[in-house]
Formats: sequence, C-alpha cells, structure tokens
Amino acid sequence: AESLDVAKIRLEFPVLERHASSGEPLVYFDNAASTQRPVSVIEAMNDCYRHYYSNVHRGIHTLSEESTQAYENARQTTCDFLNASSVSEVIFTAGTTAGINTVARSWGDANLRQDDVILLLISEHHANIVPWHQLAARTGCRVEFVPIDDNFLISDEVVGEYLNRHRPRLFAFGAASNTLGSEYPVERWTAMAHQAGATVLVDAAQAAPHWAIDVQSWDADFVVFSGHKVCGPTGIGVLYGKRAILESMPPFLGGGGMISLVTIDGFTTHELPEKFEAGTPPIVEAIGLQAALKYLQDLGMDRIHEHEKQLGARCDQGLRAIPGVRIIGPDAEFKGGINSFVIEGVHAHDVSQFLDSRGVAVRAGHHCTMPLHDAVGITASARASCYLYNTDEEVDQFLQAVEDVRAKFAKSGRRRRSRRSQT
Ligand code: PMP
Repeated sequence: AESLDVAKIRLEFPVLERHASSGEPLVYFDNAASTQRPVSVIEAMNDCYRHYYSNVHRGIHTLSEESTQAYENARQTTCDFLNASSVSEVIFTAGTTAGINTVARSWGDANLRQDDVILLLISEHHANIVPWHQLAARTGCRVEFVPIDDNFLISDEVVGEYLNRHRPRLFAFGAASNTLGSEYPVERWTAMAHQAGATVLVDAAQAAPHWAIDVQSWDADFVVFSGHKVCGPTGIGVLYGKRAILESMPPFLGGGGMISLVTIDGFTTHELPEKFEAGTPPIVEAIGLQAALKYLQDLGMDRIHEHEKQLGARCDQGLRAIPGVRIIGPDAEFKGGINSFVIEGVHAHDVSQFLDSRGVAVRAGHHCTMPLHDAVGITASARASCYLYNTDEEVDQFLQAVEDVRAKFAKSGRRRRSRRSQT
C-alpha cells in the first residue's frame, strides 16, 4: 500500500505548528499518553455546540432530535470501527478506565467469588489492575500475573501455562503495552483463554489508535478503549461487550437514561446499550470521536500501523546504538511506535526535562505500570511514542537530544566523581 502523506497530515493538526517553551519546534512524542486532534474533530464538536447542541433521547424538539441523531450516528460509526455486530453492543463510557471499572463492578461483582482468579499480564496499565484489586477486596477473589521473560516477551506457552495453572474466571489483558510497546496476539490468547473456561477482557487503549480492530474475529467478551488516544476528545471511551453477556449483567451506575420504569419501590432497566449509560452521556465527545474514527479509517489503519512501526524501529535502532541506553521493551519487530528507555546514571525526569529544552515531548515516570517497572528492577523510565503525524526527521532530532543528554550527564558524572576522589 502507498504510505501516509505525513506532510499533508501535519497541516491538519494545528498544535503541531507550535514551539516548546524553549523556543524549539515541538516534537510531540507523547502519543501513548494522549494524541492530538485534527481540525475535522475540532470542527465537528464546534459545529454541534454552535448549531444543534441539546441533551439527547428525552426531548421532543428540533435540537434534541438532531443531537440524538448525531449521537446515535456516532455509535454506528464506532460499531463499524470495531466491526461489532450490533450498536446495542457499543456503550459510550468516560474512557478505558471507566469501561474496565464498569465491567469489574457490574460483571465482576455478579460473577466472582472467594478464591476465583483474575489473570492479568505483568505489563498491565494500572487501569487494568486496580479495579481487580478492588474487586478482590470485595469478593475474596485473587489476582495473578503472567510474567515477561528476559527479552520482555510473553510466549503463548507461558500464557497457556498460567491459564492452566490458575483456571481464571477472567483473563484481562492489554492488546498492546503502553510501556513495553509490545503488541500481543489478541485472537490467539482469547481463544486459549476461552478454551480454559475464562471470560476475556481486552484493554485496547493502545491498539485502537494503531491497527484495525475486529471484535468478531478477536471474539473477546469485552473490549475497551479511549477517545483521546485515537485523535478524539477526552472524556469519552468505548465499552464493547457481547450482547448475551451485557444482557446478563446488572447495570453499574444508576440514574436517568438507563431505566424504563421507576416507582417508589424500584426500577426496571432500559435495553442495551442505554442500560449502561446512566446520566447525560458525553454527547459532543461522541460526535468528536466519530470524526476521529472516520479520520483514521480514511487514512487506513494498515498504513497508520506501518508508518508508526517504521518510526518505532528507527527509534529502537538509534537508542540501541547510544552507549548507556537500555530499552525497556522487546526488539522492534514485536513493537509499534513506543520505546521506553533508561539512561545509565540519569533520572528519567532529567531526561525528559532536557529533551523538552530541545522541543521534544516524552513522558517520564512509571507510565501507570508500577508492577512492570518493579519486575524490571527500575522505578522510572522515559518513553517516546510516535504516531501518524511524526516523521523520520523528528526521530533523528529526538535521538540527537538523547545522545546529548547522555554525553552531558556522563561528563558531569565524571566531574562529580573526580571531585569526590580529591577529598
Ligand atoms: N490502558 C492502557 C494500556 C493505557 O495506555 C491507558 C492510558 N495510558 C489506559 C488504560 C487508561 O486510559 P484512560 O486514562 O483514557 O482511561
């Protein structure tokens, strides 16, 4: 396939024209935390607020009907993006975190008992760990983790071994790790987990932005992702669930919109998907998300993935060539556009601050993956994450800055050591 026209794409992202506070042109490499938005998303949201905004579903007036139509159109686009079989399986949430918490509260409380096991990967984001710890505290179930090997990889054999050893009720895993950058074989692991009797939740926060999702071929029971990582707005995410399982689950949040009847004695729930959308939903955000998903699909998910894999590999290769730099993640062939790394003797926060002085935005810290950092024996790393609008030149600018920060700290480290040795 023809590759992305990145120069043209960049014109559609106004924020990419700006400079960092240092005055250097911005190199935005913090896409795993959140992406930027094209004008089509900004304008779709603006258009709603300017011309037809109203609350949805309950009003019988022009604006409410138009807003409801737009909101439900957004659900249809999201359904198509996921290749779900029905819009009733597509629930708008506040984000990945909200989606996982909904499943933990709703499905988890109804189905998990003392000594049941929830199996996760050690590379999970806190959003896919903490809700299960909380569920364990409520029900007495237990959380177990599949480890990574010395090359930061997880083989099918190890997944199979943990599935067989623990016979989990739920296997919940990230399709791609936001720290290691690893992309996992979702379809295969889902099939293995089903074989072992587990229900499967896939955290697609780091997959939805990068490659085509087909929930029917994945066959996972739940899939979640966030709007702000797919060039869409903050405050919206998607929870996909198979219809039968969603129908069997009690709603988590109660309130307006999710009921069909309320009396002084109780209530009955609305049908899917409204059953899980209590309160005024993220209406304008859904409209923005729709524009974002259309934008990505028009570019082509395969081309996006190819582009960021190439940028990721260029980062990986460049970082490995710098002495004292260690990549926290597997070889490039197993990764997308994410590279986390540590520089010997330099704290990740200092790395990030120095890179910012060169205009390069990276993240530093534990990236909400403390158990993974513990397993690797570090407390923090720096993370460069590329997306569809990044270029080879930006990668080279980033690599030069990493080389410079290493050289600078190596020199000052030597000075400090030699001063100490004189006293
Ligand atoms: N899971 C993964 C793999 C993530 O990368 C993130 C965001 N860093 C989340 C979950 C949480 O997403 P949100 O903050 O949008 O709820």
